[in-house]
Amino acid sequence: MARILIAGGGYVGLYAALGLEKKLGADHDITMVTPHSYMTYQPFLPEAASGSIEPRHVVVPLRLALKRTRVVTGRVLGLDHPSRTAILQPEEGPQRDLSYDHIVIGMGSVSRVLDVPGVAEQAVGFTSIEEAIYLRNRVLSRLDVAESATDPGARQKALTFTFVGGGYSGIEALAELEDLARDATRYYPGITSADMRWVLVEASPSILPEVGDDLAAYATRHLRNRGIDVRLETRLVSAVDGHMVLSDGTEYDAGTLVWTTGVVANPVLKEFGFPTDDRGRIVVDEYLRVTGHPAAWAAGDGASIPDVTTGRPAPPTAQHALREARLLARNLAAEIKGGQAKPFCYTNKGGLVSLGRYKGVAKILDVKVKGFPAWFLHRTYHVFMLPGINRKFRVLADWTIALFFRRDIVQLGSLGRPRSRFRAAAGPKPK
Ligand SMILES: Cc1cc2nc3c(=O)[nH]c(=O)nc-3n(C[C@H](O)[C@H](O)[C@H](O)COP(=O)(O)OP(=O)(O)OC[C@H]3O[C@@H](n4cnc5c(N)ncnc54)[C@H](O)[C@@H]3O)c2cc1C
Repeated sequence: MARILIAGGGYVGLYAALGLEKKLGADHDITMVTPHSYMTYQPFLPEAASGSIEPRHVVVPLRLALKRTRVVTGRVLGLDHPSRTAILQPEEGPQRDLSYDHIVIGMGSVSRVLDVPGVAEQAVGFTSIEEAIYLRNRVLSRLDVAESATDPGARQKALTFTFVGGGYSGIEALAELEDLARDATRYYPGITSADMRWVLVEASPSILPEVGDDLAAYATRHLRNRGIDVRLETRLVSAVDGHMVLSDGTEYDAGTLVWTTGVVANPVLKEFGFPTDDRGRIVVDEYLRVTGHPAAWAAGDGASIPDVTTGRPAPPTAQHALREARLLARNLAAEIKGGQAKPFCYTNKGGLVSLGRYKGVAKILDVKVKGFPAWFLHRTYHVFMLPGINRKFRVLADWTIALFFRRDIVQLGSLGRPRSRFRAAAGPKPK
């Protein structure tokens, strides 16, 4: 009986585990170590932030989705691969060792943060469900702050939102949240959408490289027509105390700063003793085996995988991670049971970008689509790809409800401080 350890419970972890369960049956031991008990369907994070989808519906509970995999909540901190041992930090309690025969690494990526003064203190990223929920509450709470502010400077700061990075995650997050805030202003008599300032700062000459020049230009025009200040070939130079300084000389105060300049491989991968590329990704061969290390496999954002169609490493996208994970499971099962490994070969099918409700751009193979059809394609594709029938129905129900009722603008920012009310009621300790 082989013991397989899967490090990470994202796209790679979930699809590799599903594939292994199917191909190996009950004869082998599969354990997954992951910090959260759910897989996050990241393409729906922008809609979770804007409230079009209930945040719980864009995460997939791993224990529900996996039938024969033991899910251990914790983190893999390091490996001693020659002795087939992983160092596990469980959710609570001391570190311990975990033995395995084969390891699958799908530990993804983290935000690529540049050394800009003030960013570490002021900014929030956009890669997790927690950040999506936080941003929804943050945007709505800034409207609350502005509505009750008496100082014009404080009011303007609350109503100013800056996004840095014009890739798909930044653009979708900006477009969805601006939509939400504009809709919400109708319930704030003292605020109009013209009072808000939304700024996108992008260092390169164009946004959305995934969809090509024409559609990127269309998306830029569309965002500008909505009043969003899109600044191309511009960098954020400083964000100390919420005071934004841009490379074109512009300075202003912003109450919210969102950092979406891409991702880098999970830094813990460097501790594993495997070969890594210049971006910290584990180098694997076309069969997804770690180069020079038998019984170790890796895929997804944290792996450098030769893409035979481009000659470059495969890009960090869900469409790649999903296919890599399925192939990895197939090749690993073939190694255990005896069989032929297959090389990874997948051509990027394009990109789908939502620009808020009923708007979008899409490039599928060489076909370019914009406006409502692109938005509809985005929704249809992603609900189809969302793992599990249960989640699909919940998301469809959210969308159906949204057709008949106005957008929900409740903000639950105090969720992060659940004990404050009780503590206030308990009062100071008697002397
Ligand atoms: C906002 C957003 C929108 C996106 N939209 C699209 C899209 O429309 N189309 C598309 O193709 N791609 C999209 N992507 C990219 C896509 O989501 C990623 O490429 C994909 O998630 C990569 O899969 P992965 O398994 O490598 O990493 P992940 O899915 O991030 O999974 C990594 C896992 O490793 C776990 N982990 C981290 N550290 C440890 C540790 N020490 N020990 C154990 N486990 C650990 C994490 O908790 C997580 O479960 C989007 C990404 C974002 C952020």
